[in-house]
Amino acid sequence: MSRIAYVNGRYLPHADAAVHIEDRGYQFADGVYEVIAVKGGQLVDNDLHMARLERSLSELRIAPPMPRRSLKLVMTEVLRRNRVRDGSLYLQATRGVAPRDHPFPAKCRTSLVMTAKRARPFNRRAFEDGVKVITIPDIRWQRCDIKAVALLPNVLGKQQARENGAFEAWQVDEEGVVTEGTSTNAWIVTRDGELVTRQPGNAILNGCTRLALIELARKAGLKIVERPFSVAEAKGARECFLSSTTALVTPVVEIDDAVIGNGKPGSLGQQLLALYLAHAEGDAGA
Ligand code: PLP
Repeated sequence: MSRIAYVNGRYLPHADAAVHIEDRGYQFADGVYEVIAVKGGQLVDNDLHMARLERSLSELRIAPPMPRRSLKLVMTEVLRRNRVRDGSLYLQATRGVAPRDHPFPAKCRTSLVMTAKRARPFNRRAFEDGVKVITIPDIRWQRCDIKAVALLPNVLGKQQARENGAFEAWQVDEEGVVTEGTSTNAWIVTRDGELVTRQPGNAILNGCTRLALIELARKAGLKIVERPFSVAEAKGARECFLSSTTALVTPVVEIDDAVIGNGKPGSLGQQLLALYLAHAEGDAGA
């Protein structure tokens, strides 16, 4: 079955889907995006993703491409046309097409692009064995809270991770404090069994998985603290893991050359993964 993409009001064969060369997303990375998981035909944590999308657009003063309700109709149609029941939906909105010039154009219509794909087979090994992360300097800008398509430092960091046999790179600020992964949020469990993840702010993207996990953890009576943690603290932690829409809750068993805990996925991470999977299966918030 051929894939279908949505491009500015049209549903096109994926191979023919294209935007104008003067789209500001292409020329200036002047746009934002969302990746939303799809489980059993439902968009997981869609309200969280829509709230973040609206915030990202408003921080950049890009007009919403359409009201939230209409957007939902298009998203559902993209899933239907691609017959995606389990997978993910990618949505990108840019300031639009205009002659190349840095300031915002006087007249511009927000460009909207969407694609959907079926989930790759469950990466059981990552969940069962855990993954390695490396640490790298955080060279990004000071508005990492905006889910901008400007991902060059993230791309370089992920490539560095791959070249070092790692799943992810945790970015670290000048004080030796972990901000987040290149496409994931970072978590540790302290020796006292406290769940720790960095508080939201300009230094990280406030992950929707992160937000859902915090709520699930609180409901399960787990002790959770939102605060920064250093690389040294993470290396000495009882367990570590990372979270995102596609990585869910992936255990981290090695940071650089340090083995975390006993080198096996930790129990709290496993508990959160189970809670999150149940939440995603039952999520009707689409
Ligand atoms: N941090 C960064 C830099 C990301 O790019 C992402 C996801 O793409 C995340 C964190 C995790 O966010 P979410 O849980 O919404 O997928």
